[in-house]
Amino acid sequence: MDRVYNFSAGPATLPIEVLQEVGEEWLDFQGLGMSVVEISHRSQAYKALNAEVEARFKSLLGLGDGYRVLFLQGGATTQFGMIPLNFLPDGGSADYVLTGNWSVKAQEDADRIGQTRVAASSAEAFRYIPPASEQSYDPDAAYVHITSNNTIYGTQFHEWPSVGDRPLVADMSSDILCRPIPAEDFALIYAGAQKNIGPAGATIVVIRESWLEKRVDRNLPVMFDYRTHIKKDSAYNTPPVFTIYMINLVLKWIEGLGGLAAMAQRNQKKAATVYEAIDRSGGFYSGYVRPEDRSLMNVTFTLPDDEVTAKFIAEAGKEGLVNLKGYRSLGGIRASIYNAMPQAGVERLADFMDRFASDNG
Ligand SMILES: *Cc1c(COP(=O)(O)O)cnc(C)c1O
Repeated sequence: MDRVYNFSAGPATLPIEVLQEVGEEWLDFQGLGMSVVEISHRSQAYKALNAEVEARFKSLLGLGDGYRVLFLQGGATTQFGMIPLNFLPDGGSADYVLTGNWSVKAQEDADRIGQTRVAASSAEAFRYIPPASEQSYDPDAAYVHITSNNTIYGTQFHEWPSVGDRPLVADMSSDILCRPIPAEDFALIYAGAQKNIGPAGATIVVIRESWLEKRVDRNLPVMFDYRTHIKKDSAYNTPPVFTIYMINLVLKWIEGLGGLAAMAQRNQKKAATVYEAIDRSGGFYSGYVRPEDRSLMNVTFTLPDDEVTAKFIAEAGKEGLVNLKGYRSLGGIRASIYNAMPQAGVERLADFMDRFASDNG
């Protein structure tokens, strides 16, 4: 069997060790004589699994007792609405930092619920992260929303915004657990699972419990209220058991490699391998974003024209380097090199880039 190197932005590549482990215990989960997707979400086995994955998450992020980790459905996109429904009061306003399509969508949903303000923006082409000197926060903001990594454009916050005691909310869908973060500086972190930590189906929400005391007094449908999920350990209704099970295996895999500091080291080396191939091409490849804001997870670049770009994608595909096409409206190339992409994959890509540039430049 030939596995390819899959540079898809999401759903994305997963660690081979994890995929193998799923295969090995597929027919008989923990000696129960059935698979993990056949067990009851009210069973002891499932309750233990949920507790285990929450504990692993908290330990990897260094979170204390004041935080909960929830596994919800509806994708990161549902959080765009759920956050303002719970935390944007009538007559209040929330600050949004616009660094890509996803942050724009998050703000658009908040605008459907209440009032927002742009605290900083790189919207003319999303090629950079607005530096501190371009950020200005409303002293009364109900919260500040950022997108830590911009999956489409390939920028990433390398310095967290300084927001004082305003609650900081981050969409970390495409870089959760890629590096250590000061997790307790955030009131809420959310991420769809399918980029860096598992298959689609669950959205991780890390929430500071004390912030819930500030929850807006609004009569919400039960599934849209974070308190429902906290009270019921993410199992108010049937949870996406398979995704949560796989997230647990991915977290174990991260622990085995040495945790988030080790992930950051691996990811920096991988990203450098690809960015160096761009930078030594003499302009044949051109990075889309400002170098100091380059993402560790999504590397974006363009080639001289559309024809040579299509040829690049086709020839890379023949070498087992797949899903390199840039976002549909942006064009160019995007190599997503999430946690599970091995160093060998980026070396194959960089080697291909060198050969392609010298043959076509
Ligand atoms: C992919 C992505 C989303 C959307 O996630 P879904 O789980 O598909 O709703 C939101 N934000 C960012 C930063 C993303 O990369």
